[in-house]
Amino acid sequence: MPTEKRSDRPYRDFGDFLQKIFPFKVQKISINAGFTCPNRDGTKGWGGCTYCNNQTFSPQYAANEKTVSQQLEEGIRFFSHKYPQMKYLAYFQAYTNTYDALENLLAKYYEALDYPDVVGLIIGTRPDCMPDKLLAELQKISAKHFVLIEYGIESTSNETLKSINRGHTYEEAAETIQRTHERRIFCGAHLILGLPGENRKMILSHADKISSLPLTSLKLHQLQLIKHTRMAAQLKESPELFHLYEIDEYIDLCIDFLERLNPDFYIERFVSQSPKDLLAVPGWGLKNYEFTAKLNKRISERGSFQGKTFNATQSQSRKS
Ligand code: SF4
Repeated sequence: MPTEKRSDRPYRDFGDFLQKIFPFKVQKISINAGFTCPNRDGTKGWGGCTYCNNQTFSPQYAANEKTVSQQLEEGIRFFSHKYPQMKYLAYFQAYTNTYDALENLLAKYYEALDYPDVVGLIIGTRPDCMPDKLLAELQKISAKHFVLIEYGIESTSNETLKSINRGHTYEEAAETIQRTHERRIFCGAHLILGLPGENRKMILSHADKISSLPLTSLKLHQLQLIKHTRMAAQLKESPELFHLYEIDEYIDLCIDFLERLNPDFYIERFVSQSPKDLLAVPGWGLKNYEFTAKLNKRISERGSFQGKTFNATQSQSRKS
């Protein structure tokens, strides 16, 4: 049975989730903690995902990074002028933030948590890179602090995951998310809409599949081709594998996706904008807030809302 609309809002916004948790405004501060990626050094795979920008993996890049505290200091300085009461979440964003010796990982997480006004962690990682020992430590941290682990699922099709050299399967992602949830740690997921070889029907089937996972939040983004990546070269060699969405078409795709999605999930974003100098295609030239305004207008025109066609029986394996 399709679900009833639950509120005036057409979808659950991640900001509302943070507002429920924190009695004050919180802002994420992105951190590059100098970790690398097991999909490039042979631990999980070689060469990395085909859409990943190789250039940022030079050793100098990591070596030049500032400490976690320095990055927090700079980030917080930027926001605290305008919002003195603001608190912060350290967002370990770059590369695989659970890929290092346990003591190194914990040292960096605690360095962030010890920084004044930091009230929690968001840790971005691959689903095949979450050992149980680390998860146990994160569970301890999450008993005292906000912790959300953000897993890159990218697609629920193993064929696609193989073709983009992702180095893990969808089943591995589902299993790790379940393990994380069982330790009462918030789980987020990241998905790319429009990977090569995926048609509209396949893309929408991702919404059905991930709806059964115990996720708190979801980030979607359009396929962006970054210059000098293997995928950018693939576009030239085999353009028939790609469908590069125009904005309005992508908006309707997002709304169809949203309608099929579990209404419990909080949506953090629908698009991402890579820096212009790195981006090969598509160059939509829209700021994120402009995209959101267009999306909301279209949702209203269509009378849509999150979970409109979601069938709760699809979600039997989801645990509260
Ligand atoms: S996209 Fe992420 S997982 Fe893939 S190669 Fe790049 S850093 Fe590694």
